[in-house]
Amino acid sequence: MTIERVDTLVVGAGQAGIAMSEHLGRAGVSHLVLERSRIAEGWRTQRWDSLVANGPAWHDRFPGMEFKADPDAFVGKDGVAQYLCDYAEMLQAPIRTGVEVTSVERLEGRQGFRIETSQGPIEALNVVAATGPFQTPVIPPVVPADSGLTQIHSSQYRNPQDLPEGGVLVVGAGSSGVQIADELNRAGRKVFLSVGPHDRPPRAYRGRDFVWWLGVLGLWNMESPAPGTEHVTIAVSGARGGETIDFRSLAAQGITLLGRTESYADGALTFAGDLRRNIEGGDRNYLNLLRAADAYVAANGLDLPEEPEAHRLGALPACVTEPLLSLDLAEAGITTIIWATGFGADYSWIKADCFDEKGRPIHQRGVGREPGIFFLGLPWQSRRGSSFIWGVWHDAKHVADQITTQAKYMEYDAEARATATRPAMAPVAKATT
Ligand SMILES: Cc1cc2nc3c(=O)[nH]c(=O)nc-3n(C[C@H](O)[C@H](O)[C@H](O)COP(=O)(O)OP(=O)(O)OC[C@H]3O[C@@H](n4cnc5c(N)ncnc54)[C@H](O)[C@@H]3O)c2cc1C
Repeated sequence: MTIERVDTLVVGAGQAGIAMSEHLGRAGVSHLVLERSRIAEGWRTQRWDSLVANGPAWHDRFPGMEFKADPDAFVGKDGVAQYLCDYAEMLQAPIRTGVEVTSVERLEGRQGFRIETSQGPIEALNVVAATGPFQTPVIPPVVPADSGLTQIHSSQYRNPQDLPEGGVLVVGAGSSGVQIADELNRAGRKVFLSVGPHDRPPRAYRGRDFVWWLGVLGLWNMESPAPGTEHVTIAVSGARGGETIDFRSLAAQGITLLGRTESYADGALTFAGDLRRNIEGGDRNYLNLLRAADAYVAANGLDLPEEPEAHRLGALPACVTEPLLSLDLAEAGITTIIWATGFGADYSWIKADCFDEKGRPIHQRGVGREPGIFFLGLPWQSRRGSSFIWGVWHDAKHVADQITTQAKYMEYDAEARATATRPAMAPVAKATT
């Protein structure tokens, strides 16, 4: 049997796989993208029905194509999926869908890898894992499965009607948790929201969206989270045209805010006494961004309308100043818990020496420790923007550069180089006496 061979195999056809294909194509590297489902599957089926992009269309896109939408609009999840499909078509990207990669193993005694797939083996000199920053839903083991409650991860939530009757506890107040809690509350559910440490930038300030402010202030390019903020999530929303996440208004609309969910016993949950600290930390982050924006406006003499009212935060609601530290779920009428607690990653299919003891990739800007293995789309791969649509494009360019650089090293031919550069031999002069 002849084995299919490619120079570089890319695994996954989300935004990362597509960006990788663009840059490999530009560099003239023969490649193939394998996708186990469909292009942009994450955007099609792992998001709730009403989700819109967190950033406006002019910003959350690849440089090579605009959305067919108002540039300031927040495009719906299906629009994002369609955009990625259109982009792949524009590139004529060599994507094969419905093919799962099940293992990647180094070839013995020669360069490259043997890749097992659901449609037979392939050999490649390089493998790029573009399988996403958010692969495996993480639900902390707090409430036992036999508690009688419906428990789902935020990636399984679709809409309020699909949930059983009754109140809902949403655990986690990043962009997903906050938007889901808000939607359920607007649908008439009794909602409790467990809030951990978070950043909550203003949606817009002085006439500019926060994505613009993070851009001009260089904050998308931060190479690692500021010390002490590694586990801080970001709460932003493009829903209803884009609004600042404000926990005071969520409480005023009827959502009960709680501290971090800690433990469960006899039908009751307990919460950490950190709610006020978390809310005040988010406020600080919000105000710091306003101040940094004001300083930037002044330093650059920009003519942007002042917005003093944005600096005024109202009083903290009672659920924050006198927080509940435990809650009997039946008494509170809670029938469902939605865990908006993030994702892990699973690279067990790559049999190579480039993972730490927790299975996390060991890499430099996507270049794996094991030669020939590359990663793309990791959170903070090179900077804060790495897992976002526009950020992954820049990382893909770097990874493609590294792949071509390595290929040039392998092409190095000492013999040919010596022949090409050796000066022509001068005829040997006869010795004269
Ligand atoms: C709720 C939510 C909202 C978000 N909103 C925004 C936003 O507004 N703007 C923004 O820029 N970013 C947003 N993001 C972040 C990011 O853009 C998305 O997570 C995006 O889907 C990541 O793209 P990716 O290509 O890296 O990974 P994915 O989209 O997850 O693509 C990975 C692909 O790999 C495939 N795959 C996995 N394993 C294999 C295998 N073994 N063999 C073959 N194929 C495989 C999967 O089927 C999948 O299609 C959001 C993320 C979430 C969770």
